[in-house]
Amino acid sequence: MLSIRRLTAHYGAAQALFGVDLEVGRGETVALVGANGAGKSTLLRCVMGLVRPSGGSIVLHGDEVTHLPPARMVRRGLALSPEGREVFGTLSVLENLELGAVPLALKAAEKSRRLEEIFSRLPKLRERRSQLAGTLSGGEQQMLAMGRALMAGPKLLLLDEPSLGLAPLVTDEIFAIIHQLARAGTTILLVEQNAARALSASDHAYLLANGRIVEHGASRDLLNDAALRTAFLGAS
Ligand code: ATP
Repeated sequence: MLSIRRLTAHYGAAQALFGVDLEVGRGETVALVGANGAGKSTLLRCVMGLVRPSGGSIVLHGDEVTHLPPARMVRRGLALSPEGREVFGTLSVLENLELGAVPLALKAAEKSRRLEEIFSRLPKLRERRSQLAGTLSGGEQQMLAMGRALMAGPKLLLLDEPSLGLAPLVTDEIFAIIHQLARAGTTILLVEQNAARALSASDHAYLLANGRIVEHGASRDLLNDAALRTAFLGAS
């Protein structure tokens, strides 16, 4: 579904990605793990069209999409739940959700159908639909960021650090939602600093270090890899 080849990205003179290759197959959950500053968010932002790659290619469903802007990527079936959630605090939950579908200019009936689907998947958002997003807890804001992305009806959902700053029990709840989405057939590219969680929740995984993929394979194998465990999972 998504094929990234030799992708490079720069911020001014500073290079953040050095020839990244990555594949996501239809229906898979793929994890991208690595330390702070490894380039994980940059990679997702390149895919979404928010950062312009300096080289390489991004192919979605066989089409070259490397330099398309974000709204066109949404129309091609991509949606991003960004790091830090970036919900609009002074807007209601409902208004935030509606923003997720803006590039699609949906008819009212289709918008309602999607809202209903999201509310049944994320019932807390239904309860709080009129509440200002800024007054939600961190976990609820994460649900809202994911719900907003789901409003676009994505074929490929990009999740950037969904567990960041959340308590373990809330993280469990978020990962349960990710698991349900995957089971329902959504293809997911998941960025996480919490490598153990991300590997447990995914089929395949890539390990990014200093802008380069240094390891990839079946998540189960990476989870059992002794060297990887020592270096990234804090276990010996
Ligand atoms: P984190 O989990 O901390 O977000 P990450 O793996 O997602 O880490 P990126 O945010 O992609 O890493 O950052 C990769 C590199 O690019 C880092 O060296 C970072 O300082 C740099 N960088 C990221 N965003 C910008 C920006 N807007 N301007 C300049 N440099 C940036």
